[in-house]
Parts: sequence; structure tokens; C-alpha cells
Amino acid sequence: MPIEQLKNHVSGQWLDPESHATLDVENPSTGQIIARVPLSVPGEIDRAVAAAREAFPAWSATPVARRCERLFKLAELIRTNSDDLTRLVTEENGKSLPDARAEVKRALENTEVACGMPMLQQGDKLIGAAADIDGEVLRVPIGVFGMIAPFNFPLMVPFWFFPYALATGNTYVIKPSEQAPCSMTKLTELIERAGFPPGVFNVVQGDKTAAERLLEHPDVDGISFVGTSRVCRIVASRCGDTNKRFQALGSAKNHLIAMPDAKMDDMIRNMITSCYGCAGQRCMASSAIVAVGDDTYREVTERFVAASKEVLMADPLDPAVADEPMVMGPVISARSREFIMEMIQTGVDEGATLALDGRSLKVPGCEQGHFVGPTVFTDVTPGMKIHETEIFGPVVVILKAQTLDEAIGIINDHHFGNGASIYTQNGYWARRFKLETQCGMIGINVGIPAPVAPLPFGGMKDSLWSDTKGQGRAAIDFFTDRKIITERYWAEG
Ligand code: NAD
Repeated sequence: MPIEQLKNHVSGQWLDPESHATLDVENPSTGQIIARVPLSVPGEIDRAVAAAREAFPAWSATPVARRCERLFKLAELIRTNSDDLTRLVTEENGKSLPDARAEVKRALENTEVACGMPMLQQGDKLIGAAADIDGEVLRVPIGVFGMIAPFNFPLMVPFWFFPYALATGNTYVIKPSEQAPCSMTKLTELIERAGFPPGVFNVVQGDKTAAERLLEHPDVDGISFVGTSRVCRIVASRCGDTNKRFQALGSAKNHLIAMPDAKMDDMIRNMITSCYGCAGQRCMASSAIVAVGDDTYREVTERFVAASKEVLMADPLDPAVADEPMVMGPVISARSREFIMEMIQTGVDEGATLALDGRSLKVPGCEQGHFVGPTVFTDVTPGMKIHETEIFGPVVVILKAQTLDEAIGIINDHHFGNGASIYTQNGYWARRFKLETQCGMIGINVGIPAPVAPLPFGGMKDSLWSDTKGQGRAAIDFFTDRKIITERYWAEG
């Protein structure tokens, strides 16, 4: 099969890249090259921003219901192309087909929520704000928005933002992850078919050079970023310098608390999918378990390690496993695998017990793939590097606490605060957990508490570098400005 050379999409045209520099895009399960992504130069971002700026006046003046017509059409196209999109996500990212299908579904749900913009974008009016004076709050579109995307949900994460941006009347430039750029190319074909006018939605492929130009560009009004907290810090500082609004969703170390009364069978099953789904590369993946009490610690450790040994590792596109609910594929790249290997060695060196070692795992027929087997450390204490660091792979650390207070304290002392879950049937413990835990997304007997599309998505502390989150109403606040009108009319004559 010929290797696809990806292009940029600017002002309704597919453009050949200006630079000959490209990166190979691999299927991480097999190591096979599936595409080449151009490393766009700053001038290509400039052209996309200019196209988006030119499209803004007409698009923002288009009645909101007409804008949403294009989104309804896009939703229909996503639905009819969902099998292709699902396969592409699995091919470029390595997650299982059920996980990729769920990703496409969440993308669709966000599009559907944004279709409600004629209701959602309505402003407020205060009759009689003062004598004979009315006050009015209009929600108006702002201009050109940019998005810089991560590799782990290459299709879904952009949907936390762009359907809302377009529905509210803004125009858009997206830079997909250079590690997983293919599904965004397919999506752009669907956006074209949905009839968005040229320049309303533009894609520029590339790495940090293109991203940096988007961040510093004077004609970009706002940025949505999702990726590592290291880059969130850069985004926050550049957007501050250039007076852009921004939202930056970063890294995580999500904890699961096992209480003594938890339903053990259900909990272990749920923990396994939380920790090993997408090979531990979900921002909501759990990678730290805190068991409360000696007996709970002993039982959870034994049962979790035993269940980890049963995880099915395979190329997710192997038809033999396509319908399996829990298949673990590879991590994204050789570099990522190498980092995970280093972190496992760090855990051994700092004295944790390596209860299950996934380093030597091989998947027959996938010798060039980037697989790491389920790996579990026990006897982990707060402050160890394997507890402090986002490893972003199938490596789980298990800690012990004697009380719920101590368990919540372990989570609250951690610098990340994306998500956390508790397993208990006790309403008092659950209530305390949801009120006292400093994380943005909380689960009660739910190992992946990822909010559905109408609700905001985002963490706290080092996991979020802005005061707005993705999805739902939070997205509408981000993509509109509030203009406040104070009006009076004098009596005639
Ligand atoms: P990353 O930070 O390496 O890259 C993300 C994007 O930033 C890419 O498009 C990349 O080209 C760009 N980039 C890299 N360096 C840059 C720089 N110096 N300036 C500007 N742009 C730059 O992240 P990743 O490895 O692709 O994604 C995984 C990370 O994303 C994990 O930390 C994960 O937790 C996080 N994530 C968080 C959420 C959330 O909701 N909080 C969701 C998904 C992923």
C-alpha cells in the first residue's frame, strides 16, 4: 500500500506542504509506517490564521441555526463513517476497537450538544436595571481560535472545543498531534462535505514549531490546549504575553481508593479497565490504587495482580480479538516505551516491590510493536518517583492507608488533580470523598469518571492551567465574550 502523505487544509483547499520535512506516522502495534505528516513551517500557520480571519465576518453573521445546520450534517456524516473513523483511530493510536468506537461516540455527542447553540448561546436581559434603563448581556463570538491536540484521543479531544467554537460563530485552526494525525485528516474531509464555508475550519499539521506560531500569532484570539502539563505551562505563559484567552488541560496521576466495604469482584474488574484501557494512556486512566486497611490492602493486591496477569495483549486490529471488551494494545511509540521501561527501573531502584513485571512481554507477530505488559508495584509510598510521575503506560502503583482521611490526604498532597474514584457502598464515606478530594473529576464506584459531553471536562492543580474547562457550558463561556449593554430611550416630544 502506498504511504499517504498528509496535507494541510486551508480555506477549503488541500495544500501540499511547503517544507519537505516530514515525520513517519506508525501503527504502534506493528511498527508499520501508515502515513507521513508534514512538519509545517510558521508561514503555513499564518496562511491558515489569515483564512480563518477572512471567514470570520460572514460566519459570525450567519444565523446560529444555519451554522448549526452544518453541525447536524457533520453529526450525520460521523455516524455513517464511524466504522472508518474507529479503525483509523485504532490504527494510528493502538487502542482497542471498543475504545476507539467510544471515542468516536463521544466526538459525536459533543457535536450534538453544540447543535443546541440556538438555546445555549442566549444572553440575559435585566429590565429596569435603573430608572428607565435596561441592562442586557449579549454572548458574542470572538474571532479566530486555535487548538493544539494530544495523541491519546486524536479524534475526540478536538471535539471538546471546535463544535462549540464554530456553533458560536468563531473560526478555527487546529494543529493535530504529529504522533496521531490521520483521523483528523479524515474528519476534515467530513467537515468539507458538511458544507462549512472555506476558512471556517482549517488544519495545519506539524510539531511544536507550528504550535508555537499558533500560540504567538497576534491574530489568534484564543487557544485550547490538551497535552502534558510541561507544555501547559508554556501555553499559559505565551497566551498571557499575547493577551489571548486560553484553556490548557494537562497531565494526571489518577487515584482509586479501595474501602473495606467495596464490592470486591466488581471493583477489581472496574480497576482493570480503568488502569489498562488504552494501555494506560487515557488522561483519566488510573495508575495509583490506595487500599484502606491492612486486610483490604492484602486482598486488593493479590486480586489485582492476579487479574492483571489475565489482561489480553494483542494487535487490536487482529480480527480474533476485535470483539473482546478488554484488549490492551501497545503504547504510542518506541520513545514512550523506553520512558516507561526507565520508570519501572526507577521503581525497583527506589525500593518498591515489583509484583508484576511487564517489561519482557512479547506479542507474537507484533515484534516491531511498542508493547509493555501490565506492571504492578506494591509497597509504594507517597513521594516515590513512580507515584509522583505520570508514567502514561500500563504501570500501576499500590499504596496503603489506614483511614479514609489518610487516603484523601495522599491524593490531595499530589501535585496533579485530574480525576479520582472511591469504591464503597457507604454514602458517608462517598460524600466526604467527593467534597474533600482536590480533583476536578470524581468517581463513586466508577473507575473512569470522564464527564459526558453536556458537562465540563477538566482537572485541578497541575492538571489544569486555566480557569475554564472543556465541553458543555464551560466551552460556551470560553468561545463567547459577554458584551453588556445599558440602554435608555427618552419619551417622544
Ligand atoms: P504533548 O504535550 O507532548 O503534546 C501535545 C501537543 O503539544 C502536540 O500537538 C505537540 O505537537 C504540541 N507541543 C509539544 N511541545 C510543544 C511546545 N513546546 N509548544 C507548543 N506545543 C507543543 O502531549 P501528548 O504526549 O501528545 O499527550 C499526552 C498528554 O496529554 C498526557 O500528559 C495526558 O495526561 C494529557 N492529556 C490530558 C487530558 C486532560 O483532559 N487533562 C486529555 C488528554 C491528554
